[in-house]
This record gives sequence, C-alpha cells and structure tokens, in this order.
Amino acid sequence: MSDRKLYQAVSDKFTEITEQMAMHDSIKMILSQPKNEIIVNFPVLMDDGSYQLFKGYRIQHNNILGPFKGGIRFHPEVSLDETKALSMLMTIKCALVQIPFGGAKGGIKFSPFKYSREELRRITRRFTSALGNNIGPSHDIPAPDVGTNSQTMVWMMDTYKNVGKTQEFHNAVVTGKSLNCGGSEGRNSATGFGAIYNVEYWAEDTKFDLSKSTFAIQGMGNVGSFAALKMAENGSKLVAVNDYAGTLIDPNGIDVEALATYMQEKRTLEGFNGLKLQSRDAFFEAENDIMILAALENQVAENEAPKIKSKLVVEGANGPVTPEGEAILLERGIEILPDILTNAGGVVVSYFEWVQNKNSESWELEEVERKLRKRLKRAFDAVRKIQIEEKKSMRDSCYLRALNYINDVYLERGIFP
Ligand code: NAD
Repeated sequence: MSDRKLYQAVSDKFTEITEQMAMHDSIKMILSQPKNEIIVNFPVLMDDGSYQLFKGYRIQHNNILGPFKGGIRFHPEVSLDETKALSMLMTIKCALVQIPFGGAKGGIKFSPFKYSREELRRITRRFTSALGNNIGPSHDIPAPDVGTNSQTMVWMMDTYKNVGKTQEFHNAVVTGKSLNCGGSEGRNSATGFGAIYNVEYWAEDTKFDLSKSTFAIQGMGNVGSFAALKMAENGSKLVAVNDYAGTLIDPNGIDVEALATYMQEKRTLEGFNGLKLQSRDAFFEAENDIMILAALENQVAENEAPKIKSKLVVEGANGPVTPEGEAILLERGIEILPDILTNAGGVVVSYFEWVQNKNSESWELEEVERKLRKRLKRAFDAVRKIQIEEKKSMRDSCYLRALNYINDVYLERGIFP
C-alpha cells in the first residue's frame, strides 16, 4: 500500500543524495534507520461500555541537532513504514531550516471522525500515558498532524503533566497547543502560510505575477485552508478544489473564505454552495497556474502527472508527489516546491512556541510572522543557490543542504563513545 511507497521513496532519495556527497559511511548507516521505534497497544473504554484496542506509534529518527520533533497523526492508514518515512523527513526538514530539533513522527491507526469527543479524549490520554517518558520537553516534542489539532495537544500536555516525571516546563512537551494553554500566536496558520511564503519567493524569482494567477488545491484542512487564504490575499483565484469526497471546479473563482469556514464545520466539500462534485481526475485535468497539494502522500503519480497543466506544483502535504510523478513533472518543465521546504513553517513556529514556553514568554503575532518569513527566506535562497550552481532539482538541493549540515555536525561531535 501507499505507506511502503513513501518509505521507499524517502529511503531511495536519502541513498541517492548521500552517494553524491562526501557523507561518512558510519553517519549514513546511523541515519538509514530510526534510533527508536516505539509501538504501543492500549485498551480504551468506549461510550457504550465496551473496550477497544488501539495501536500507537512513536518513531524517533534522529536527535543529533536537538530533541526529537514531529507530528502525531490519527488516521486509519497509519503504519510503521509510513511513520518511519515521515520521521526521517522531519530530521531532514529541521536540518534544512536549521532549527535545533531532530526528527520523529507518531500516530494511532484509527479514524478519529468515527469517535465521540469523550472517546477521543480517552484515546489521546491513554496513548500519552502509554508513551510515558518516551516524550518530554527536552527529549521528544509531538505536534498536530492529520486528524489531530490543538485540542489533542492540550490533552497530551495535561496527561504528561499528570503522569510524566518532568514537571518543569511541562507545557513545552508538545507544540501546536491552544493559545490559552501555552500555544503560540501564528502556529495554527504557520504551515499553510509558510507554504505560500515559498510560493511568493518563487514568484519573485521567476517574475511571475501572483495577482493575475489561478490556483487549484487538494485538501482544505489545516494546511490547505490557510494556504488558500494566503493565495487569495495575494490576488490569486481559486478555480479547483479536491478532497476525499470529490472535486469542485469553477473557472470564475471559488470564494475561499466561505469555503474555509464551510470546511471547518462540515469537513467535506459535499454540499458547498449547492455545487456538483466532479471526479478526482477532473481536479488534475483542470486549468490553473499553481497546484497546491495539501492532503496526503502519493497523490501525484504516473496517472496524474501527465494531466497537470500548472506551472508550479506546491507540496504542502508530506510526500504528495511520488518519484515517478516527479520525473514526469520535471520532464514537462513543471517546477515543484518540495515538502521539506514548503511545509516547514509549521515546525519553525513549533520551535518558536517551545522557546516561548521554556522562557515563559509570549510573543506578538507580528514578531512570530517576521521571524518565520526570515527563516524560510534564508532556507529558500540557500536551496535556490544550490539548485542553480549544482544544476539539481529543488528537492535534491533541499536534501543536499540538510544532509551536509547533519554530516558536519556529526564530524565535529564524533560518534559516541
Ligand atoms: P487535516 O486533517 O487538517 O486535513 C487533511 C485534508 O486532506 C482534509 O481536507 C481532507 O478532506 C483531505 N483528504 C484526506 N484524504 C484525502 C484524499 N484521499 N483525497 C483528497 N483529499 C483528502 O491535515 P493537515 O494538518 O492539513 O495536514 C495535511 C498534510 O500536511 C499532511 O501530509 C501533513 O503531514 C502535512 N503537514 C501538516 C502540518 C501541520 O502543521 N498541520 C505540518 C507539516 C506538514
């Protein structure tokens, strides 16, 4: 299934890039596998009095740059391979934007939409207590991902405070919390906005006028909604949108604010403005300048890539374009802004949240956004420079910058003992 494909794609890219650079064999060996693979099975009381057994994962890939860091996913397709792949991507992402975190990822294999709020609370608490001191504010810091949100993080933090050993700065054990409970201004929008800051840098670089452009978006959850709102703010017109239920197409433009509000409540495109949903294929065949993929992995492969008419494909999600899909897009002259750069805004503001928690500070939104833009621009410029000087794809340039940095750190520190 798809999880194996993502794992293979990430491992293959890692091997390909480490062979091109002077990475020491022992460092390559360390990075090729996660440091820790934690799997927990735990029972949870359901509302009807029965018990259900859940399988949860926390994969800690690497912590040479700092504590393990990465999201928690609640989705029926969560698996060991998927979580391993995503944890390695986190290590590379944190190194790429040079924040002092390593990489991790976790999740529970189930569909959160089929459970009541009380059941979700018990599932989250039981998972957190099963993880015990495998997470911690200076050790491993989870964040929201697909199917989880600020409420999930607040439940995790509260459980950790009650069962964990570390009492100091316990609110820094997770990021992506609500503002009331120690979250940061700008965290909710950071991934989606960050993706579009990268689009703005690309537009500046290629002298492309965003205000006269059209865009299509797959996924209108946390990342997709904020990305769409920022594109609309830049004057770009939304002409196609897709989620698991189908596709909406309107060449005259879809009202992004109304759609984002609708999606927050209904979580499905079905029924929006009485418009008829079209097929998944219709989304990839639609006319537009910029396609933003903000749903799940493995969405653009051999079947979809030849149909895409956009100039730019933006990976807001992790791994939405397969290696086969990427080869076709690049061959056709379509540029790709790769996930580890494009969606790094979330982990950058997670880092700001963690710094604020550790220092008992609270920054203004303007400060968070200014710092976020600065860090993403620095990474974008560095990647663009490698791309031009070494004639590489954007993705390869990202991997090169990140892996060279990790390699340098290992060489300076040495491998224990
Ligand atoms: P979310 O659960 O809020 O939204 C996911 C969206 O994808 C929903 O609109 C859903 O309808 C849609 N979707 C689900 N299955 C689909 C399918 N088969 N076809 C089309 N659409 C489908 O999740 P999110 O937090 O927005 O995350 C989206 C992606 O971004 C994931 O790959 C995640 O790993 C990545 N990401 C998220 C963050 C973050 O801060 N939330 C940070 C970095 C990367």
